[in-house]
Amino acid sequence: MELPLVKVLCITLVVSGLVKLVALGAGWGLVRLKVAERWRVYRRELAPGQLRSEAWAAVGVVLCDALLVGLFRYFVGHRMAPFSVPVALLSYAWMFVGFEVWFYVTHRLLHTRALYRFHAQHHVAQVTDPLTSLSFSLVERLVLMGGGFGLVLLAMEVMPIAQAGVMAYILTNYFLNVIGHGNTEWLPRRFVSSWLGRLFFTPTFHALHHARYQGHYGLFTVVLDGWFGTAFEDYPRVHARAREGQGLVRIGERLSAAEVPEPLPATTGAGVGGAS
Ligand SMILES: [Zn+2]
Ligand SMILES: [Zn+2]
Repeated sequence: MELPLVKVLCITLVVSGLVKLVALGAGWGLVRLKVAERWRVYRRELAPGQLRSEAWAAVGVVLCDALLVGLFRYFVGHRMAPFSVPVALLSYAWMFVGFEVWFYVTHRLLHTRALYRFHAQHHVAQVTDPLTSLSFSLVERLVLMGGGFGLVLLAMEVMPIAQAGVMAYILTNYFLNVIGHGNTEWLPRRFVSSWLGRLFFTPTFHALHHARYQGHYGLFTVVLDGWFGTAFEDYPRVHARAREGQGLVRIGERLSAAEVPEPLPATTGAGVGGAS
């Protein structure tokens, strides 16, 4: 028996609102830890009024997401493939990779003169906080969600796609977004030069996008910025400074090689600290 649309929308609102709230709560809890203060990427206060502006935008985003996801589930949900582990894993990989490409392309377009007004809400934050992860204009949110739904619809034409894989990706997206906007570098210094660091982003990576605007357009991976020449050359140095407790103090600051501290001796715990 099918649930009426209104019921589907209400359930979606409650579930997706709660998931966002949990992610946000975890993010605030983490950045307020004593140890997190040492690892700030930018040692600066938030702008006056920033949190208020982000909170209002977040309310719109929560409602917008619930409406779109509810409608999608109601009209398209029955076309998803039944659960199996391989199909769920494939669906997750499809969403992860596909959304990286969608995000990079649309994010670069949103930084053009003609379209930036739709992206400006997200850049209310020059220094980010967990709430920045939900601070978008409704137009930008439609673009982001449209990409996600488009990927699911496209997948349906060429392969089986399972709801569990898509949901798992959405959860990953929420949590990584909160961590990525925390202005706190959790990953050890050696991460950036490791093979993992050549694939995946860090909070420092995205903090630099907010401070400098032109560059680091990628979401959770750094590959497209590398390929298209939009990576900041001093990113590893800024990351190292954050990890040594010497985060940047000026927004426009760029680091030359001379401005990076020597790594602390291993016994003081550099590189320890629970990366994930
Ligand atoms: Zn951001
Ligand atoms: Zn941007």
